[in-house]
Amino acid sequence: MVVSEVNLTKTYDAIVIGSGAAGGMAAHVLTSHGLQVLLLEAGKKLPIEKELRSMEWPYDNPYRGQLPPDSHSLSFNEYTIRNPPYGPGFEKAKHLKSYIGSSDYLKNIVVDERENPFTGTNYAWVRARCLGGKTNIWGRLALRLSDYDFKAKDRDGFGENWPISYSDIAPYYDKVDLYLGITGVKENLPYLPDSIFQRPTKLNCAEVTLKDSLAKMGRVLTQYRAGVTTDGLKHNKYRSRCYGRGACERKGGCDIHAAFDSPTGLIYPAMDTGNLALRTNAVVREITVDPQTGKASGVHFIDNQTLKDYAVHAKVVIVAASTLESARLLLLSKSRQHPDGLANSSGHVGHNFCEHIMGPGVAGRAKNLVGKPSTLDDGRPGGFYLTRFRNLADKHPKFIRGYGFEGGSGSTMFPRGTDAHGFGAAFKEEVRKNQGAFVGMGAFGEVLARYENYVDLDPVVKDKWGIPALRFHYKFGDNEHRMAEDMKETAQEMFEAAGFEIVNVSSRVLTEGWSIHEMGTARMGSDPKTSVLNQFQQSHDVKNLFVVDGSAFVNASCQNPTWTIMSLCWRSCDYLADELKKGNL
Ligand SMILES: Cc1cc2nc3c(=O)[nH]c(=O)nc-3n(C[C@H](O)[C@H](O)[C@H](O)COP(=O)(O)OP(=O)(O)OC[C@H]3O[C@@H](n4cnc5c(N)ncnc54)[C@H](O)[C@@H]3O)c2cc1C
Ligand code: SF4
Repeated sequence: MVVSEVNLTKTYDAIVIGSGAAGGMAAHVLTSHGLQVLLLEAGKKLPIEKELRSMEWPYDNPYRGQLPPDSHSLSFNEYTIRNPPYGPGFEKAKHLKSYIGSSDYLKNIVVDERENPFTGTNYAWVRARCLGGKTNIWGRLALRLSDYDFKAKDRDGFGENWPISYSDIAPYYDKVDLYLGITGVKENLPYLPDSIFQRPTKLNCAEVTLKDSLAKMGRVLTQYRAGVTTDGLKHNKYRSRCYGRGACERKGGCDIHAAFDSPTGLIYPAMDTGNLALRTNAVVREITVDPQTGKASGVHFIDNQTLKDYAVHAKVVIVAASTLESARLLLLSKSRQHPDGLANSSGHVGHNFCEHIMGPGVAGRAKNLVGKPSTLDDGRPGGFYLTRFRNLADKHPKFIRGYGFEGGSGSTMFPRGTDAHGFGAAFKEEVRKNQGAFVGMGAFGEVLARYENYVDLDPVVKDKWGIPALRFHYKFGDNEHRMAEDMKETAQEMFEAAGFEIVNVSSRVLTEGWSIHEMGTARMGSDPKTSVLNQFQQSHDVKNLFVVDGSAFVNASCQNPTWTIMSLCWRSCDYLADELKKGNL
C-alpha cells in the first residue's frame, strides 16, 4: 500500500470527507477514474486486527469481553431517563460510550460521548471515528432497495418519490456485489431484489422449520444476506474469504476482513493506484467557498490531536461523513453566499431525517431440539432475514410501509440465547440442553421521512474541538408506534404457527437511533425548492459539491442502507468524474 501525505499547496481534483462506506467508495471510484483524491478522516487509523481479536475466547479476556471498569456504556434505561448530552451524571466513568460500545473490542472504535456531545431529544447516536468508520463493526446485512421504496409515494401517497428508479441503480448494485462480495440465496422477490451472490450459508434446523411454516402464510424467510465474501475476491489482496468462524456474533468486526470494511475493501486498493492521499486525524470543521463564484473551494480541518487548523483545496468536495455529521458540516459551512449553510437554499438540510424503528421481537425454543447434541451452527456470518410482508399486495388498515425481521437459531457462544437461569451443575445442564434449540428474531421497520424530524446546530454546546454540536428534534410518530404493535403481534403469531415454545415476546420500542441506520438529512429530488441534491447526489445550489452518504435517501425503506449507500455513491462518482473531465464542475 502506497501511503502519501497531504499536500497543502496542491489543488486536488477531489476532497472526500469521511472514510466509511460512502467515503471509501468515493475514493475507490474516483481514483480508478485517475483523479487525484485527498481523503480526510476525523479519527485515527487503528490497528484494527488487534482491536477486534475476533477469535479471542471470553476466558482469555480480563473482562470476559466486557468494557474495562473505568468505562461505562449507556443502557436503554439511561437513554430513556436522561436527556442529551449524556455526559453529566456519569462522572465516575473515565470513558462514556454509546450502548454499542459495551464491549472491550469496540472501546477504541466508538467515540467518547463527552468529547462528542449532542443535545435535544433522546437519541442513541452511535459513531465510530476511525479509519473505516462504522464499517469496522457493522452487522453486514446487505440488502437492495426496490421500486416499492423508490416509488413508495406512488403506492401510498406519503412523502416524495426518489428521483431514480431501481433500473438506474441496479447496474451499480451489481458492481458493488462483484467488487465487495455478498452471500445469500436468490428468491425472485420484486420488493427485495436479488444480488449476485457468492456461496450461501445454510439455514439450521429451527430456521428451516420457521421458513416452511412461513411459506404456508405466504411469507419469505431467507439466508442472512451478508456483505461477506464466502468465495474470496481474487482482485483484493487485503481480504480473506469467510472461514465460518462465527465470530461475527461479537457485535461485528472480522479480523480477517471476510466481512466488508471500508479500509481493506476500498481504501487500501485505492491507495495502490497512487492517486489517493489519506490524512487521518483530520476533523473537517467547514467547507470553504470561493467568494466570487460561491462554489466549494476546499475545506478547513483541525488536527485531532494537535488541534492545529489547516486549509486544503480541491476542484470538487465530496461529503461522506455519515448522515448526521454530513448535515452538521453543511450547516456549519455558512458564508455570504450561503447564509443558512451550504447547499441549503431549500431549508431542507437536516430535515426529513429518518431511520428504522427497533425493539419488538420474539424468542423461543424449538421443542424438538431440546436435549439434542450441539451442532456447529455459529460458523456463519448471520442467521436469517424474514422479508417484508406488510403493504405489498394488501393495504394495512393501521399503518403504511413495512418491516422485516433479523434472526437466528442454533448453538452459539455459551450461554447466549438460552435464557437459562441459576448456577452450578444444574445451570450448565440447562444451557447444554437448550442452546441448540433457541430461536429469536427482532424487527426493523421504516420510520417515515417527515420534515418536522430534523437536526440543527446547538447555539451553545461545542465538541472537544470547539465545533458546535448537533441538536436533535426527532421522535417516532403514530405510524411507527402502530407498526411496532403489529411487529409484536406478527412475531408471536409466526412463532406459534411454527410450533415453537415462546420464551419471551418484546413489545418495547428501543430509543430513537438504536438501529444505527440514519438517513435523509440532505435528500435527493428533482425540485431544488424541496430537496438538497439531484439524482447524482450533486448539490442543486453548488455544482461542485456532492453528498454521497445516507443523507441523500428520500425515505428509509425497511431494508438496511449500506449496500444502497455504496451503489448510489458509485453511480454519482462515475457521473462526477465524467462531468469533471468535461469541465462542467
Ligand atoms: C453495530 C452496527 C451494526 C450495523 N449493521 C448494519 C447492517 O447489518 N446493515 C447495514 O446496511 N448497515 C449496518 N450498520 C450501518 C452501517 O455501518 C452504516 O450504514 C455505514 O457505515 C454508513 O457509512 P457512512 O460512510 O455514511 O458512515 P460511517 O461508516 O460512519 O463513516 C463516516 C466516517 O466519517 C468520519 N467523519 C465524521 N465527521 C467527520 C468530519 N467532520 N471530518 C472528517 N471525517 C469525519 C467518521 O469518523 C467516519 O469514519 C451498522 C452499524 C453499526 C455500528
Ligand atoms: S464468520 Fe466469516 S465474516 Fe464472520 S468473523 Fe468469521 S470469518 Fe469473518
